[in-house]
Amino acid sequence: MPRYSPFMLFRTQPKALPTAAENAESGFQLMVQYQAFNKQLPLMYCILLCNTWILSCNHLESAPHWLTLYIPLLLSLVCLSRLGFWFKTRHQALTPALVQRRMCQTNLLAAPVTLAFAGWAIMLFNYGDTSTRYHIAGYLALTMLCSLLCLMHIRVAAIIVTVIANLSFVILIFTSEQGQSSVLLITINIVIVLSGMMLMLYFYYRDFVQLIQSHIQAETLSRENFALANLDSLTQLPNRRKFFHDLERHCADNSSQQQRFALGILDLDGFKPVNDLYGHGTGDKLLYAVSRRLENICAEQASVARMGGDEFAIIITANMDEAALMDFCTQIGKTLRSPYAINNHMVHISASIGLAIYPDMAQNAHDLYEFADYALYHGKRNTRCDVTLFSSDHRKLIVRDANIEQALRRAVLEQELSVFFQPIIALSSERTVAFEALARWHSSELGIVSPAVFIPIAEQASLISDITLALLAKALQVARSWPEDIRLAFNLSAHDISTRRVVERIMLMLQQSGVDPQRVEFEITETAGLQDLAQIKWCSEQLRQMGCGITLDDFGTGFSSFRQLHELPLTKIKIDRCFIRDIHSNPLSRKIVQSLMTLSCDMQIQCVLEGVENADELQCIQSMGAELAQGYYFSQPVPEVMSHSLLAKQTDTSISENTIQTSENHLGTVDITFKQQG
Ligand code: C2E
Ligand code: MG
Ligand code: MG
Repeated sequence: MPRYSPFMLFRTQPKALPTAAENAESGFQLMVQYQAFNKQLPLMYCILLCNTWILSCNHLESAPHWLTLYIPLLLSLVCLSRLGFWFKTRHQALTPALVQRRMCQTNLLAAPVTLAFAGWAIMLFNYGDTSTRYHIAGYLALTMLCSLLCLMHIRVAAIIVTVIANLSFVILIFTSEQGQSSVLLITINIVIVLSGMMLMLYFYYRDFVQLIQSHIQAETLSRENFALANLDSLTQLPNRRKFFHDLERHCADNSSQQQRFALGILDLDGFKPVNDLYGHGTGDKLLYAVSRRLENICAEQASVARMGGDEFAIIITANMDEAALMDFCTQIGKTLRSPYAINNHMVHISASIGLAIYPDMAQNAHDLYEFADYALYHGKRNTRCDVTLFSSDHRKLIVRDANIEQALRRAVLEQELSVFFQPIIALSSERTVAFEALARWHSSELGIVSPAVFIPIAEQASLISDITLALLAKALQVARSWPEDIRLAFNLSAHDISTRRVVERIMLMLQQSGVDPQRVEFEITETAGLQDLAQIKWCSEQLRQMGCGITLDDFGTGFSSFRQLHELPLTKIKIDRCFIRDIHSNPLSRKIVQSLMTLSCDMQIQCVLEGVENADELQCIQSMGAELAQGYYFSQPVPEVMSHSLLAKQTDTSISENTIQTSENHLGTVDITFKQQG
């Protein structure tokens, strides 16, 4: 498209085709110019009209009527029609094309209109006396000066007016008689003033254009900054900031129209190992590929944003009921599960999605996000489903968790926390070789709270390290009273083991406890919480160097376990009890346990089977060659005093003959009986 020069009447042929940005820039410049001129247009015509009629009145007696009445009437009609047009179109939306047209019209009209007024004034020059001639010179000078000022934003028109005005004065000079030298001098003065004005106008234009251009540059820059601030540079998706802005807007729009929409928070499972195994370059490409798949599947129905890391948010605006929503999200999960070919690797990942619906479940953007996020992490931790829809049960859990967190914050940990001990049995010798320390909390406000409930809450509320240190102090005190060959297994949260400060305090506590570090093994649960593997590795190496053992707890249920097996300085794995339950009747469980045992054997680390609840399970794992086991079949977790009784009883009693029967009642105290077998 040919480019229009904003200040020229005619099209100029560009050297090279202008870019879209250049076109937009020149269009904007024209608009600003036109608007500035348009504001002054009525003033210009009003002054023109008034001055014309005053001059006409001054010549009523000396000049013929066609010159003092009819021509001014005709000129007035032209002015009024221009004023009428201005009035009619003053609120019209302007486009660059329209502005271009209007400016061309103004430029085209400038010459005939100026010629008409100037010609009329020159014609009057032949009538009247010296004073009326002064009037004509003044009329021409002032009216042209005023028009020049009003037209200063349209350079071509301004030049036309000035040139015609100057020519008019030249004509006046030639038509003035010898004796009227003062008219001549005034005319020369006016020509000098108009020429000076022309020069000033030139400089004004230059500054005006520069001002507009710097304004455009600032606008462009701020637009670019705005886009950058709202875009995730890696995936080219809207970023977290844009997402929250859109979410707020959707809530505001929909609250007035009572429309529903859903929010999905999506988290990739297995992304971290891809990053660790193949490097960040592959990880970045994977995130980009995931983003494109998400964009494709969301299409018109939803909009997707990257929240950071491997987390995405999806605002689903299409009208769907709960079943359709679940189907849609399941479809997203399926799409993301297909393998990705990146840098000569076939990469496999999956996704978990938490969903919440507005306004059914939450009445504002903040709650909606929190609920979808809660559904995601609750689903990941508990049900391990691909898609979890926030429900009333989740709402109850949120209230419960908040109460527990508050109670934990107010609790006097040393008093309310205690430690129970569950024996770990060596199956070959049928003896207790270690005790696992298990936290018990008897809250003064809430009563007994299970560690399976309060530990994750303490982790999220960053209260876990205080709990860990309080429990470790108690557990070490008890361990000191056991025989030297009995070990202590102590659970550490992923948060503890990834914090240097906590690990250093644990090490100090161990040194000061008088318990040989070789007797202590720390159990780490392999959860999604084991994110900062490098830090966990460093911390567990510190503990290993002291002589402590490191056990990977609940093995087989968590995330990226093989990666952790490979990276961490492990001495033991604990196979989760879900594989031991009904192992005697479930060939698949047997196969899994067998392969995990073989794996631990190959890695030359020990293996504990936890959750043995009956003789059938015990028999089965014994036949498979298991060495260490733990479970209610041997003993429930018991308080300190009972740990001593258990150790005392085992000195000369075989486990197969005497199985210790314990039952942990709701107050956390334990009854122990010895059952004679056979
Ligand atoms: P865990 O470390 O895997 O501990 C074993 C859990 O399984 C204990 O539950 C134990 O009572 C239970 N258990 C043992 N044998 C059997 C069995 O035969 N059948 C069944 N059904 N359960 C059995 P508990 O004491 O409720 O602890 C639950 C979880 O809470 C622990 O799982 C651990 O992850 C966490 N936890 C407990 N104490 C601590 C602690 O001091 N620090 C940290 N960070 N976490 C702890
Ligand atoms: Mg454990
Ligand atoms: Mg466990």
